[in-house]
Amino acid sequence: MDSRGEQKIIDQLRRSRLRATGQRLAIMQALDESFEHPSAEDIFNTLRKAHPTLSLSTVYKTLQVMAEMGAILTIETGIGGLRYDGHIHPHHHAICIRCGKVYDVDFDQYPVDLNRADIIPNFKIRSIKVYFSGICAVCDSLKGKPSAPPAGD
Ligand SMILES: [Zn+2]
Ligand SMILES: [Zn+2]
Repeated sequence: MDSRGEQKIIDQLRRSRLRATGQRLAIMQALDESFEHPSAEDIFNTLRKAHPTLSLSTVYKTLQVMAEMGAILTIETGIGGLRYDGHIHPHHHAICIRCGKVYDVDFDQYPVDLNRADIIPNFKIRSIKVYFSGICAVCDSLKGKPSAPPAGD
């Protein structure tokens, strides 16, 4: 990672009042470089070679802390576990119900004004999550083709 990329990640952690530890930096970097909205396992598999002492439970815990502090986003796909996003500019997500892929949706396509204090009285909104679900182009192009036989029951 070049020093400018590293500085960007350190700033992102600092804005969330998190110290830039080696593990946090490594996980943030993996998130920053991925546009696939990886799972904790995906991140662990990306990092395990270069960081042999890192455990999956550390990855989980680190992600949880960073998400709670607002340094990263979590995405609930409804299939499988949580997915993570290091790109925290306002944007929405579209989730394919077949393959579970998560696609970014431009905020301008569906803007929500978080500065409106009256959206929910007596409730301080920290973030907004809008999920679109459907079938992605890849899965759609596979329709009509014979699918794998269902697992026997
Ligand atoms: Zn799909
Ligand atoms: Zn995203």
